[in-house]
Amino acid sequence: MASRNLSRRINSLLVKHSRLASQRRALSALAELPETHQMMKKTCRDFADNELKPIASQIDKEHRYPADKVKAMGDLGLLAIAVPEEYGGTGLDNLAYAVALEEISRGCATCGVIMSVMNSLYLSPVVNFGTKDQIEQFGTPFVDGKKVGCFALSEPGNGSDAGAASTVASLEGDHWILNGTKAWITNGYESEASVVLATTDKSLKHKGISAFLVPKPIDGLSLGKKEDKLGIRGSSTTNLIFDGAAIPKENLLGTPGMGFKIAMFLGETSDSPRIGIAAQAIGIAQAALDCAIDYATTRKAFGSPISKMQAIQMKLADMELRIESARLLMYKAAFLKDEHKPYTKEAAMAKLAGSEAATYVAHQSIQILGGMGYVTDMPAERHYRDARITEIYEGTSEIQRLVIAGCMLKDYAQQNG
Ligand SMILES: Cc1cc2nc3c(=O)[nH]c(=O)nc-3n(C[C@H](O)[C@H](O)[C@H](O)COP(=O)(O)OP(=O)(O)OC[C@H]3O[C@@H](n4cnc5c(N)ncnc54)[C@H](O)[C@@H]3O)c2cc1C
Repeated sequence: MASRNLSRRINSLLVKHSRLASQRRALSALAELPETHQMMKKTCRDFADNELKPIASQIDKEHRYPADKVKAMGDLGLLAIAVPEEYGGTGLDNLAYAVALEEISRGCATCGVIMSVMNSLYLSPVVNFGTKDQIEQFGTPFVDGKKVGCFALSEPGNGSDAGAASTVASLEGDHWILNGTKAWITNGYESEASVVLATTDKSLKHKGISAFLVPKPIDGLSLGKKEDKLGIRGSSTTNLIFDGAAIPKENLLGTPGMGFKIAMFLGETSDSPRIGIAAQAIGIAQAALDCAIDYATTRKAFGSPISKMQAIQMKLADMELRIESARLLMYKAAFLKDEHKPYTKEAAMAKLAGSEAATYVAHQSIQILGGMGYVTDMPAERHYRDARITEIYEGTSEIQRLVIAGCMLKDYAQQNG
């Protein structure tokens, strides 16, 4: 009897041990990136240091789209990281995407947002929902940065409430006719195609929204003014105004009524744009911290470098803590996604933690630089301006909190019957 009990205990320990071994593997992936991802990080950091950091301030001042750098990112495979190789993409995973986007954004936040739109918002729906012909026309020619695309969901009357699209598409003969205005569209000026969400059946509310592949330029599609933004000023943001724009019937992406599902797919099951914006935010935060440490170790006050002062050290420690916590959440969300496990809550937490880390760290960075933080001679003020958008697009911080709480309450209800 005693030996049977002992054997049962040993068996249960062995089962636990094997579970622990797999958990340990998962944890070590968070603590130390796999070799491929470390190489990706190093390549992107070198590229960002040599190619992006030197131009970031100038393109910000001139509100200039960095066409040559976008092409260079395309040549490195950075605009189509998770797109399968058969379509000309890089064929890597979401962790690689997050790692790369953080480094690119550390060098230049404008390049970060362009990279994020190309990967998560444009190519992802085209490749995941497109037919072979659609991918040939709207996917493959866009992977190397020779052409860029955009994604048009938001409207002047609705942003957070994505299901309330008032742009309409009606089928007339062999063409869909689009009418309405899409707002805040990143890459709006440079893009040669757009994924556009429009209502095809108002009576079905969000289930009556469809997605379309719209080439640019076409008759009946004009652009609004270029928005004069606080940050990420090298990227263009504009309205797409549809006034009877006709596109071929075959340019419907997926089936009628699938548009909202495609938008949700991007948030929940695809190479999530939220993980991308977490990466962009963490890159900006890291750049702001780098700038603060450099300055603190050389700037002297009261006879010693300010980095010797404990008040400054407290700030540096808090900045590092927030960045590293957000980065681990981002790795976890990307890791879960790559393992095909649910990650909605983790992606929302990574985006929230990353964007709040970015605004906090950029604020403290200016404080550490004192007067030099407030002028454009140093990058701290740009990081402060660039950081702010990360709390707004891809779902505001308020929406992320709603998503997190929604997941928690759903789990609680499931566990408690
Ligand atoms: C620079 C820039 C680039 C962008 N790029 C794109 C793009 O490429 N494509 C695209 O489609 N869109 C894009 N957007 C739009 C962006 O996604 C929206 O601005 C964002 O979703 C917020 O929507 P809104 O501006 O309409 O704010 P609103 O939805 O009007 O929200 C206003 C405030 O109300 C709060 N709020 C709203 N609903 C709730 C709620 N239920 N509970 C609590 N608080 C709530 C919000 O958190 C916010 O604080 C971009 C925006 C900017 C500024």
